[in-house]
Amino acid sequence: MSALMQTYARLPVTFSHGEGVYLYDTEGRRYLDGISGIAVNGLGHAHPAVTTAIREQADKLIHSSNLYRIAAQEELGSALARVAEMDNCFFGNSGAEANEAAIKLARLYGHTRGIKKPAIVVLEGAFHGRTLATLSATGNRKIQAGFEPLVSGFVRAPRNDIEALRQIAAKNPDVVAFLAEPIQGESGVQMLDPQYLQAAREICSREDWLFMLDEVQTGNGRTGTYFAYQGLDLIPDVVTTAKGLGNGVPIGACLARGAAAQVFGAGHHGSTFGGNPLACAAGLAVVRTIAQDGLCANATAMGQLIADTLRAECAGVKNVTAIRGKGLMLGIELRKDCGELVQRAMDAGLLINVAGGNTVRLLPPLVISETEARDLAGGVADLIRNFD
Ligand SMILES: *Cc1c(COP(=O)(O)O)cnc(C)c1O
Repeated sequence: MSALMQTYARLPVTFSHGEGVYLYDTEGRRYLDGISGIAVNGLGHAHPAVTTAIREQADKLIHSSNLYRIAAQEELGSALARVAEMDNCFFGNSGAEANEAAIKLARLYGHTRGIKKPAIVVLEGAFHGRTLATLSATGNRKIQAGFEPLVSGFVRAPRNDIEALRQIAAKNPDVVAFLAEPIQGESGVQMLDPQYLQAAREICSREDWLFMLDEVQTGNGRTGTYFAYQGLDLIPDVVTTAKGLGNGVPIGACLARGAAAQVFGAGHHGSTFGGNPLACAAGLAVVRTIAQDGLCANATAMGQLIADTLRAECAGVKNVTAIRGKGLMLGIELRKDCGELVQRAMDAGLLINVAGGNTVRLLPPLVISETEARDLAGGVADLIRNFD
């Protein structure tokens, strides 16, 4: 079919363009986008602020090099640090790279404290990326199988089990950091209890571990605050983000505060493309638009509307075991695997995704309107009722 490596089981559709929450395929069919390219197009498709920013930047300069100062990178770094309540920032090109930076930072932090084999606590069900270190941190055997030997230095813990974390602290003097997603996206929108995260934060402070959050998916307004931790009354030492940050232009960021912000010095980490003027112009447009247009508040309101509509319309549907999530990151867990719903949704003009085998995952653009939110929730509820 093509000269591409078969790393994806692709659906038989090609999109030619998009506008707002809609995508159009090459046959001219319109789809309501309930997935946003996996939490990437938070501002929807062809948002004029992003288009203008990258057009104007491309007219001037696309790439120079991190050998030199980059104005757009400094500006985005400051804007992100301010909104995140962090001190500084390193830019890469993806979520996996943002997490690689966090993992390297944690290891170096350990070495400077005399720990020769620093270890990072990671959770069951976690997803941190597909590079060797991040797939080793990921808690999904399917993603690791065939790629052994894995990178060492990760200690796995069950999620929401604070006692397990206490035991690791008591037994393992090599631990230097804790890394988790506030809501696990890829394993099916699995929520971490706020009390668990707060208790984990306390353990990290007590043990001198870095408390690191992977907000690659939950960040950039997705859950109703710019970062999910801002809705949890806690602050991490390190936070990573990517997906929604460039609205489709590849960019990832690793932010740090306090002692963590002082770990990297010249030569410790780098990236040819990371933080280039084009990607940072897109990122700046995203950060500013989220603030100016009140998109965090819209994510909260529309997420509530979609969840309420789904709960009302799926009441009594035996197949539905849970509806969970926060803001515009929602999961509808079914009693059986439901991968076939993706094609059925496409036939109905809806783009959805299934995560963890049995959970319909919704990640619509943050710009979604009330009418569009009702259409999405109603359409998904119809699919689920007919799947019983
Ligand atoms: C998508 C994702 C990643 C990986 O991001 P890439 O840009 O695909 O490398 C890492 N962590 C989380 C939580 C993600 O959702």
